[in-house]
Formats: sequence, C-alpha cells, structure tokens
Amino acid sequence: MARPSAPPDLLALDETELTAFMREIGEPAYRGRQLFEWVHEKGARSFDAMTNLPKALRERLAAEAQIGTLVETKRQRATDGTIKTLLRLPSGRAVEAVLIPDFDDAGAPRRMTACVSSQVGCAMGCTFCATGLLGFQENLTAGQIAAQAHHLDGIATAEYGRGLSNIVYMGMGEPLQNYPAVAKSVGLITEGLGLSAKRVTVSTVGLARRIRQLADDQAAGRIPPFRLAVSLHAPTDAQRSAIMPVNRSEKTDLTALKDAIQHYHAITGHRVTYEYCVFAGVNDSDEDARQLAAVARWAPSKVNLIVYNPVEGTPFTSPPEAELDRFIRALVREEVRVTVRRSRGQDIDAACGQLAGAENA
Ligand code: SF4
Repeated sequence: MARPSAPPDLLALDETELTAFMREIGEPAYRGRQLFEWVHEKGARSFDAMTNLPKALRERLAAEAQIGTLVETKRQRATDGTIKTLLRLPSGRAVEAVLIPDFDDAGAPRRMTACVSSQVGCAMGCTFCATGLLGFQENLTAGQIAAQAHHLDGIATAEYGRGLSNIVYMGMGEPLQNYPAVAKSVGLITEGLGLSAKRVTVSTVGLARRIRQLADDQAAGRIPPFRLAVSLHAPTDAQRSAIMPVNRSEKTDLTALKDAIQHYHAITGHRVTYEYCVFAGVNDSDEDARQLAAVARWAPSKVNLIVYNPVEGTPFTSPPEAELDRFIRALVREEVRVTVRRSRGQDIDAACGQLAGAENA
C-alpha cells in the first residue's frame, strides 16, 4: 500500500505558490498573500495565530498543511554567545544551524549571522571537515533551509533583542549540489525576513559549472543576487587535490574554477570571497601566500583566513599565532585584502558537522 504523502510544508512555498495553493482549495487569491505574511514575515507556526483568516479555513489548513518540518532536539551555547542548534528532519536525520552574534565594544549586538545547512552530510569529502566524514545523506528542501533561518531569527530576537542581519550557507553540505532548493530558499528567507540578498552568502567548494549557471541566473533575475564565497583552502592544484577530492576532476580544478570566477565577476560585477583555513605546515608558507595572492587576483576578491577548529579523526592543526601573523603579513605584502576569522563557539562542538556527526553516524 502506498504511504500517505506528507501534507505540504507552507514554509517551502513562495507567495505565488501559496496563492495557487489557496485557489486550489477554493479560496480567493488574496488569501495567498495573507498566508505568506503569516508564515514568512510574522513567523507564525500555528494556524490558530492567523487571526484574519476565518476559523473554518484555519481548521482546514491545520488538517491539510504544515508549517515547517524541523524540530529542535539539542541546543548548545558558547561563552562567546554563539548558539548551535541541532534540528531533526522528518527522516530522523539531523542538521546543524548556528547563530553567531557579533557585539560592539559596549556589548550591544552589531550583527546576527545565521549559518545554515543545505544537506545532511556532504559528498565532497574534504579531509579536514567533520561533515565530509559523514558522506552525503540527504538534500534539504527550500522550506527546511528557510526554517533554519526563521528558527535562528526567533532565538536571536529572544536572546539578543534583534533579528538576523546576515545569512551564510556554510553549515553542512555543498549548497551548489542542492542548487534549486538553495536558490529558492534565499528568496523565501530574504522576502520573509526583509533582508537584502547582499546579506546572504552562499559558500561552495568551487563547482565551476554551477558557478557559471548562478552568475547567468542572477544576471537574468531568475534567482536573487546573493553573494558567493569559495572554499579554497589551498592555492595550487597539487595541494588542493590532496585535501579536497573535488579538485581532482578537470571540471572542478583550479583552471576550471578560475574560468568560472572570472565569468561570475564579469556577469554580476560582484567580488568573490575566498575562504582559506590555515593548516600548520600544509598551506601556510610564504610560497603559499604568493600562490594564494595569484588566485586572489583572478578577479576582485577578498580572502577570509579561518583559524581552524581541529576535528577529531583528521591530522590538521592550526599554526601558532606567530606563524599565522607571518602568513598574514606575507599576504598583505602581496596586496591581498585579507580578514582573519577566529573560530566561534570553541567551547561547544563548534566545527561544522561535529554536533550532527554524533547524531547521524
Ligand atoms: S568543507 Fe563543505 S564541501 Fe567540504 S566536506 Fe565539509 S561541508 Fe562538504
């Protein structure tokens, strides 16, 4: 016997789709706009809250639809204010979504960044990454990605008195392997929370064909103009292939990536951000800095150096401060625009995939 299908997740539907849904059940089109406001803008998670909908309609919706499919099963809070949540999917698997607050000198919240996951596990197999150790398990829907942002927006407002200011797709998974859901979720989140797409950064290991496609889709207005970050982590093909299997294919090696990045910049005019985890003795020599500067010159860019949060079961460590300083100075001499990102939430399972790794193993 066929399993009954799950009721539609309204968090996965944009305004046009919600309007179509309302029409299908015999309601006027303007009800779609009302539903969008409740679900995406006001964050309603129960149909009872939708006071401008007739009671009979609310009861029908409660029987025939759902709002969000993720359930929080664990929450950790670090001394620096970072809050990591573990969210269970209908499949029973779990993903991480992390709130990263940034405070000014007076302790007032300056930025509230949500780091969201796009997949359970990841097929890319980067050798330094806890999520990579899990392998690929499941793609998230647009609604499940949007749900993470809404969940963290609620926590940010409750805990710190302001909602999200930035979203980064740097949690579990390779976002461009789940491109349609990711692109759609950016639209749902930015419209719902009233954020500019400029405040959203999608991070990829460098799937060249997808980068070209997203540039073309953004230029044509088919998807929102979110920003792109590339997880580089090594500046030459030999080094990159050793730690990131994706680089071993000529479709996704540095030559292909360079072409794609230059296409992206030419089409969108956007600067690219390179993420670069600094690994002691692996990618932190003066020669590495020169090679990295060469990559940074492919197109206007900036480099985020990430101080690595060690992952059990991998051989990588972070260099001592003095070595890190030397590497930064070498990049500055090469006129690379560089920012150092310290790992946040170090007293909790902070490296991407560590918390969910235990759950999905
Ligand atoms: S670093 Fe990103 S792309 Fe690489 S395995 Fe981890 S989640 Fe996947």
